[in-house]
Amino acid sequence: EKIFGPSRRNSQGLDLTDECMLETLDKSLRETDHTYISRPLIAHYDASGDATRPVINPADHRDIVGQVTYASDAAIEKALGNADQEATWSKMTPAARRDILDKCADALEAHMIELIALLVREAGKTYANAVGEVREAVDFLRYYGAQVATKDSEATITPLGIILCISPWNFPLAIFTGQIAASLAAGNAVIAKPAEETPLIAAMAVRLFHESGVPLPALQLLPGDGDVGAALVADKRIDGVMFTGSTKVGKLISGVLLGRRGRTGQPVSFIAETGGQNAMLVDSSSLPEQAVTDIIASAFDSAGQRCSALRVLLVQDDCAEHVIDMLKGALDEISVGDPSQLSTDIGPVISEEAKSRIEDHIAAMRDAGRVIWQPKNGLVQQAGWFVPPTIIEVGRVADIGQEVFGPVLHVRRFERQELSSVIDAVNATGYALTFGIQSRVKSTIQHATSRSHAGNIYVNRNIIGATVGSQPFGGRAFPARGRRRGAAPRATARPVR
Ligand code: GLU
Repeated sequence: EKIFGPSRRNSQGLDLTDECMLETLDKSLRETDHTYISRPLIAHYDASGDATRPVINPADHRDIVGQVTYASDAAIEKALGNADQEATWSKMTPAARRDILDKCADALEAHMIELIALLVREAGKTYANAVGEVREAVDFLRYYGAQVATKDSEATITPLGIILCISPWNFPLAIFTGQIAASLAAGNAVIAKPAEETPLIAAMAVRLFHESGVPLPALQLLPGDGDVGAALVADKRIDGVMFTGSTKVGKLISGVLLGRRGRTGQPVSFIAETGGQNAMLVDSSSLPEQAVTDIIASAFDSAGQRCSALRVLLVQDDCAEHVIDMLKGALDEISVGDPSQLSTDIGPVISEEAKSRIEDHIAAMRDAGRVIWQPKNGLVQQAGWFVPPTIIEVGRVADIGQEVFGPVLHVRRFERQELSSVIDAVNATGYALTFGIQSRVKSTIQHATSRSHAGNIYVNRNIIGATVGSQPFGGRAFPARGRRRGAAPRATARPVR
């Protein structure tokens, strides 16, 4: 209950201006002789003899970060059988479960340095993003524990049974932990299937859950690709699925679950968070310095690999030239490259496939004469998957096509009388996740807020980084057929891209 009261406190980060702290981080990151391992963590099952494959650093593909063992059919069967029999965790009181999740939050905080090092190497996160991610994971643990351990919920919460958690590579610790924490808090048994790109950080987190007191059968890890996910979704013992990833895979899962009932007799629960075609509206009353800072954070933080990221800048004609010029000037100062350098603003994209998909989009837009800015000096010479931040100008929102999951910003200028119609055009993409408004006119803010369909609307700030406990994060709407989130995790079925 503390988390909702005046004493609510989010997890603390690290002071990245502290030299000693940076040295410790750097040391932890350079300890590359340690091989991280991710293999199925299942009760009464030993996967240590099964074949492994390397996990590569997206910022430097000569760096093999660790080894992963995909879950075999036998491992999947064993894990489901164990979860089906699970009878300890589900019988505990919510308060007892909350205490264990709190312990796990403390354990994550205590291991912050190692977690950050792995987030940087396995997922290409910058230091700042990695710190934010560990904090979010810690917050989720405390938040969901507090949610179920209130007096009212103590009496009413009934576990559904087995929850399958399929998580994405872009928040391989925060969303991974959030899905698990929510499911465990309510007394369910969890089968966690991390994104195939980021199984190592998932394994580190699951070990901390177990060390904090979550019994093994209540939380089992099944690393693997889309085939593992598909086999799990298809199994009738699954009572609920939590999924973050591509719209296409989200629809596939929804189709498979349709009409199925779980052990409580209710339809199998499905919580999906997929893509976005997010816009920010900047009118001529806005403060350009603030707008530009917020545009850059929204579009290019995490190399644009957030579902909340800004894809479409709607800028009013009267101020467009000025805002775009300032944007270009500010981007000239941005550094793209090695995420383990504190000076780096934008790290790599997750994979070669992601890079080529984003580059194909940029090339098509260049052929159409629409690319208006890229860095002067081309790109970092490091052997990683880097994409230069790019600005593209379009005549219509519909010209952008499907969501591009990378550091690419599209600009659509509008005239005052088009204010409603450009918002409608964004609504018409069928996505409705985040939306931003930069304006100092109250009636414009009110009008845009009510006109946009987005689930999360941000006024005079950036549109990313919803904070646990303060900003519930969730989209609305269901994109039309054929639209999909760009570089989405291959989570449950093939082919997904
Ligand atoms: N929750 C994140 C944010 O607010 C985005 C999550 C995602 O990209 O899946 O930026």
